Amino acid sequence: MLSGRHRAVAEVDLEAVRHNVRRLMRDLPGGAAHCAVVKADGYGHGAVPVARAALEAGSSWLGVATASEAEELRDAGITAPVLIFGPLTGAGLERAARSGAQVVAWSEPFVDEAVRLRVPVHVKVDTGMGRLGVRPSVAPALCARAHDGGVLSGLMSHFATADEPDTGFFERQLECFAGLAAQLKRRYPDLRCHIANSAATLRGPRAHFDMVRTGIAMYGLAPANDDPFKDGIRPAMKVVSYLAGIREALPGDSVGYGRTWIAERATRVGIVPVGYADGMRRALGNRGEVLVAGRRCPIIGRISMDQMTVRLPDDWGAPGDEVVLFGAAGDGVAGGPEAVWTGATGPRSDEPSTPRILCEEVAGMLGTINYEVVCGLTPRVVRRYRGEDPAT
Ligand SMILES: *Cc1c(COP(=O)(O)O)cnc(C)c1O
Repeated sequence: MLSGRHRAVAEVDLEAVRHNVRRLMRDLPGGAAHCAVVKADGYGHGAVPVARAALEAGSSWLGVATASEAEELRDAGITAPVLIFGPLTGAGLERAARSGAQVVAWSEPFVDEAVRLRVPVHVKVDTGMGRLGVRPSVAPALCARAHDGGVLSGLMSHFATADEPDTGFFERQLECFAGLAAQLKRRYPDLRCHIANSAATLRGPRAHFDMVRTGIAMYGLAPANDDPFKDGIRPAMKVVSYLAGIREALPGDSVGYGRTWIAERATRVGIVPVGYADGMRRALGNRGEVLVAGRRCPIIGRISMDQMTVRLPDDWGAPGDEVVLFGAAGDGVAGGPEAVWTGATGPRSDEPSTPRILCEEVAGMLGTINYEVVCGLTPRVVRRYRGEDPAT
């Protein structure tokens, strides 16, 4: 029997979260607050532990998407201001009121209901995202309505292209928001104006206003799915399993559903007890790689619901060895910043001294973004924390 290994573990380094919050706050102009975005269970990292770590490092607000996410923070005893970003039904607004959360508003009936329930609102203006929010011309009237009802707290918007190299549309949204914010702050000096997500925060102070709302960068993931280390942040999560068994495939033997991999010569095949029901996406079959005791090994055959198979070198890999799906091999979660980013495909010639697979690399292979990879880890993956503050 192998002991001390769990089939699939997401190790979350809360010291990395604190480091990332401090890094993001380093260039905030005087007074701008940091809102730690912990929606979707903290992008898969665990909302409550991440919220606590972020508050320890200097965040003063927490951002979530739903009323139940706000309730989860309150149930854990967290008292910091919470802003719920998403649309709420009447029942959702009542729950927000009971948890003492603030909400986002973009219609008159919703503002009226918030006034009735005494819930502070942040008026959302659509400066180009084309999703939620009122047109800029309508925002002053909605702010006035909320103000007259005693619930006006903020003015907010959201960027559509802050992570793209072409800054044209970003500048247009920024200009639109800046004009509106200046106009409304003359009328309501305490109005908290905010628009920046991680990508915009890292672009510099012009988009910071009174508060920034960062999710992805706080988790040490690169907003443009490239290299997180270039911005001085470091990944907080490593996903790890172990070699549960090894079998010798003989020439002509196939592995897994659909027989998509067939041995050309005698091959050692490692069995890893992680599958798509853990969030290890099926598209990585015959495509992705893992680190077995620090060495890159290709995933062969299809990924099953609960297991997958990897090709082992003749002289490498024993039952119980660590298998890293992403993160650094060995004791560290992220590895050092020494590697140079070369793109999101395959083994790299500049492998850092601590072998590492970045979440961005896995995402690139899947044609998606790091956000989806971490949010896609299912509850079956055990979350384990390091760097917990002993005082809390
Ligand atoms: C999710 C979200 C954010 C955080 O975005 P990141 O790109 O992860 O920093 C900020 N604001 C709103 C309204 C969001 O929904």
